[in-house]
Amino acid sequence: MAGSGTPCASCKLLRRRCTSECVFAPYFPAEEAQRFAMVHRVFGASNVSKMLQEVPPAQRADAVSSLVYEANARMRDPVYGCVAAISFLQHQVSHLQKQLALAHAHTAALQLQLQQQQQLQHQLQQDHDQHEHCILQNALPQLMLQDAFLKKESMWT
Ligand SMILES: [Zn+2]
Repeated sequence: MAGSGTPCASCKLLRRRCTSECVFAPYFPAEEAQRFAMVHRVFGASNVSKMLQEVPPAQRADAVSSLVYEANARMRDPVYGCVAAISFLQHQVSHLQKQLALAHAHTAALQLQLQQQQQLQHQLQQDHDQHEHCILQNALPQLMLQDAFLKKESMWT
């Protein structure tokens, strides 16, 4: 760390004295030499220094992790860098949005089918009830007659 005698990863790589004002020291400790080496290779130490000085101290740690992420992506994919990851994720988002829209359409179709089935079932039940009512109404006089006949018959026994 700065002032403790051990130079930060940046000053060690650039072979310079690490002072207490070193802009890299809080973010590139000596034990993480690889992090700075990568950022330096992709962006250049002086550019990174300028970028960090333009950012308020409270946001510098986030800026450094962003630079490290971007440098990492650029090393892996020299053409697209982190754009490769972004466009992959955008593709995935649009694919999933399409799938979601299909699932919504399917759900709506099934709900409509269910409603139609329920309406049909209700209609069939109503028809059945009406039919039963008609049969009963037609059969009633006959039943009454039968009842009367039975009563009459019982008088003989
Ligand atoms: Zn330093």
